[in-house]
Amino acid sequence: MTIAGQRGERVNAPTNITLVRTRSDLILIDTGSGPHFMPTAGKLLENMEAAGIDPRGITQVVYTHGHPDHLWGTLDDFDEEPNFPNASFILSAAEWNLWMSGDVLTRIPQDRHNFAAGSARNLQRIKDKIRTVKPGEDIVTGLRTLTRPTTPKVTSPLKLFQVMEAILVIGDALAHPVIAFEHPDWRPAADHEPERAAATRKALLGRLAFDKTHIVGYHLPFPGIGVVERSETGYRFTPTTSSSRLLCRGSHVL
Ligand SMILES: [Zn+2]
Repeated sequence: MTIAGQRGERVNAPTNITLVRTRSDLILIDTGSGPHFMPTAGKLLENMEAAGIDPRGITQVVYTHGHPDHLWGTLDDFDEEPNFPNASFILSAAEWNLWMSGDVLTRIPQDRHNFAAGSARNLQRIKDKIRTVKPGEDIVTGLRTLTRPTTPKVTSPLKLFQVMEAILVIGDALAHPVIAFEHPDWRPAADHEPERAAATRKALLGRLAFDKTHIVGYHLPFPGIGVVERSETGYRFTPTTSSSRLLCRGSHVL
């Protein structure tokens, strides 16, 4: 049986990294895990090579948030040089303030404390190339962060980016292909602000089921692109088929 594009009893969480081509920019949204997080992750550079994309051609890297699977792929295997040497880097001001503040350990759950050092190490190395943005601000023409109230407060790992009006890159706002859609009230351990995260999920699902905007979900099953529909018990994620994927031309999920 296939549910939400996922077969079998076990859900494997992919890490879908979005690449956006504009006339003047090649924009990567998140950099993946790098080599120090999980043995099954950190394949971005290999996948880019297979897709014929030169990391030196990336002009902008945009982070949805500062968790390891989204940010630790910024530096090379030795944590020395950026993997994207010609890119500038864009992060929400609130995420920057969280990970680079002296009191970060008091602001994230205890079982996530090991995230802090790695994220700060990556950000510190690229600090001269980082631009911080606020909700609603343009990153480049056609790509901007969502304005409130859909965007939650910043200490939550939920950042949303709107690409060309046609696609929402939702990061981890809806991170599980079944639970997040059928039970948006449930509290995943990854949420820093559980109440706010649940409210955001519900608002987002209602909006997406209504306007049928395509979403790219960082941890949703291949191809990671789809729409939200109402179901008998809540909502469901319906992956986009290849015939309708035309809408996403100009962007790839790596
Ligand atoms: Zn994630």
